[in-house]
Amino acid sequence: MSGIIKVRGARENNLKNVDLDIPKNKLVVFTGVSGSGKSSLAFNTIYAEGQRRYVESLSSYARQFLDMQKKPDVDLIEGLAPAISIEQKTTSKNPRSTVGTVTEIYDYLRLLWARIGVPYSPVTGLPIKSQTIAEMVEMTMDIPAGVRAYIMAPLVRDRKGEYKKELAFLVKQGYQRVIVDGELYDLSYVPPLDKNKKHNIFVIIDRIQMPASDASDEDKEEFKSRVYSSFEGALRLVPGSVLLRRLDTNEDVLYSQSYACPVSGFAVPKIEPRLFSFNAPIGACQGCDGLGVQLNMSPDLVVPDPSKSILDGAIAPWSRGGMLSQFEHLVDALHKQFKIPLSKPWHTLTQEQKDLVLYGTGDKPIKINWNGFIYEKPFEGVIPNIERRWRESDSESVRAELAKYQSEKPCPMCHGKRLNIQALCIKINGADIIDVCDMSIDDSYNWFMDLPNHLTQKERDIAKGRGTAYSSCITNWQWSVRGIVCVG
Ligand SMILES: [Zn+2]
Repeated sequence: MSGIIKVRGARENNLKNVDLDIPKNKLVVFTGVSGSGKSSLAFNTIYAEGQRRYVESLSSYARQFLDMQKKPDVDLIEGLAPAISIEQKTTSKNPRSTVGTVTEIYDYLRLLWARIGVPYSPVTGLPIKSQTIAEMVEMTMDIPAGVRAYIMAPLVRDRKGEYKKELAFLVKQGYQRVIVDGELYDLSYVPPLDKNKKHNIFVIIDRIQMPASDASDEDKEEFKSRVYSSFEGALRLVPGSVLLRRLDTNEDVLYSQSYACPVSGFAVPKIEPRLFSFNAPIGACQGCDGLGVQLNMSPDLVVPDPSKSILDGAIAPWSRGGMLSQFEHLVDALHKQFKIPLSKPWHTLTQEQKDLVLYGTGDKPIKINWNGFIYEKPFEGVIPNIERRWRESDSESVRAELAKYQSEKPCPMCHGKRLNIQALCIKINGADIIDVCDMSIDDSYNWFMDLPNHLTQKERDIAKGRGTAYSSCITNWQWSVRGIVCVG
């Protein structure tokens, strides 16, 4: 393939038979006065033809769901790759769209992380694996010969309550022993539990002793199948996890069928593509609602010039377009009741006085004289007032006006990564999904090319399987590296 895109005889819209060669793997910019045909060439000719050829390459079944674009008015275009087009929208800036989401590359990434990502415990830093019963049995078989152990169902873990019904149910079901708050009891003799205290109730499913080292293979197999059915029994009673207590060391091992850290209990929800969406409640960071930044009304923006007095318009939201007159009754009340100086520069006010104006009187009512009509009401404060109006308003223009007083701070919970810890703890080759999104295109391209070297054969098969998340990532990366990205 040649290193150029060859365009001959382009006549879309007002283009006059334009011939040009565009180098590949270069940043190419079309400039010109308004109406000179930049967009006609980039979008309506080159991008349109790339898109048309791509759609044409699909099966007729797939094509029926897509709009066929008409062939652009051009004699010849050679060397086209499928292209991604990003249009610059000047109207509303949506913080929930990124280049990744617009191009749908992020969708492939989500799929990849959902399929082969491994969760790591934020507490221990170790991978969290779900275990099958067979794996639990195999791990149990590593316990030294002769050691005694309990296989238990952890019915209640650190929760308040009396648990009368639960205990009665266990008796009825024929269970015999439980460990309640560390003490072993016959189920019929468990003392009443304080409902205001947190309890632990572990139901003993089986008491086992590891086979002697010289036990026959047959005995070992028999032992294994007994342990297997005990684990099954425990999981029937308490789905998800089984507790094994070694009686020689009093050590507990928590086996988990779901993704949960055995040490901290940190649990990963079902790993699905949705988890990696910062626009969905399941994936969004709770600290910033998935925006990556926290927006706060800033006193420095509310009072941009502290050398001004209140009457001179120090409080910006009060003074826009001579609006101070609307707040005259309030300002007057603050002056009379709290001795707030109105004609002294703002910076000469005490911190207490400033706080009162900015953050209000709390529950304390102040007496307001509204053109002779006197009433009492707490003073809300300038900042809580604009915060409330910002929250409550549906009007874009009101919000845009109030947003002037907001400063952005990186979210302290996700550090700008937008996702919650459940999503960010899932990694591929040490990287969470946002780490890779934050890379430059070159770095991420190299990361993906190198990735197969760090995957197991099984992971490679999954990644390359139907839906081909991995190869789609590579293809899309190649598109965005080699294709044209049009910004018009
Ligand atoms: Zn956050």
